[in-house]
Amino acid sequence: MRGTMESSERAPQTGNGQPDAGEEIRPRITPAMEDYLKAIYRLNADGGPVTTQRLADELGISGPSVTNMVKRLDELKMLRHTRYQGVVLTTAGERVALEVLRHHRLLEVYLAESLGVPWDEVHEEAERLEHLLSDNLERRIDRALGHPTFDPHGAPIPTADGHMPALSDRRLSDMAVGDVATVEQVSDRDPEQLRYLGSLGLVPGQRLELRERLPFEGPIRLLIGEHEHLIGAPLARIVHVVVTAPDAGTLPTPDGR
Ligand SMILES: [Zn+2]
Repeated sequence: MRGTMESSERAPQTGNGQPDAGEEIRPRITPAMEDYLKAIYRLNADGGPVTTQRLADELGISGPSVTNMVKRLDELKMLRHTRYQGVVLTTAGERVALEVLRHHRLLEVYLAESLGVPWDEVHEEAERLEHLLSDNLERRIDRALGHPTFDPHGAPIPTADGHMPALSDRRLSDMAVGDVATVEQVSDRDPEQLRYLGSLGLVPGQRLELRERLPFEGPIRLLIGEHEHLIGAPLARIVHVVVTAPDAGTLPTPDGR
């Protein structure tokens, strides 16, 4: 298709307006479509079938609009929508989602590291810029930053060839008393939550220890640095951790067992 952002970035085409032989023909994907594909990718990673209801909640968009857009994306072969499996990305749809996620996360690193934008503000900015970033600028940012592999919230940055590095499944809420862990990733969605996590020192790379777990889904007591903090269950569920001890056995337990 001519006149899309995609084809205008590519090498000049032959004069008859036909794409060169072997050139990938990609339908025009709008920023709104990119947001859908990215949201479907994230929801799928969270687990369970991606229903249009979940998609509507995630995007804050009404059900009928979501149904319409899902139908259009289905026609463009970016996804398949079946009653029992819900919405599933095709290989082409996943490629777009990973490209947008790469833009988003690279931009977050750039904004945080090069411009000093606070970590609770970079997500909002990247949400807008991710749709505008050219391949050329993406490469320059990646190179200037020394090819970062994680964004400021600890989320892995997909590689340029569309590979998403794996992330720990363990969350703060899954830890056992006595476990020592390192924060791997926090959710970037809620700025207020991020400011709060930041004030507790719950940032990627921080080591912590679970001291106590109160019953009936009660809060957990954590040692973070030199201070103890109580963390509620909902917050504990959005912090991914890598447990380093005692179950990995790499560090002595703090109480000398
Ligand atoms: Zn973000």
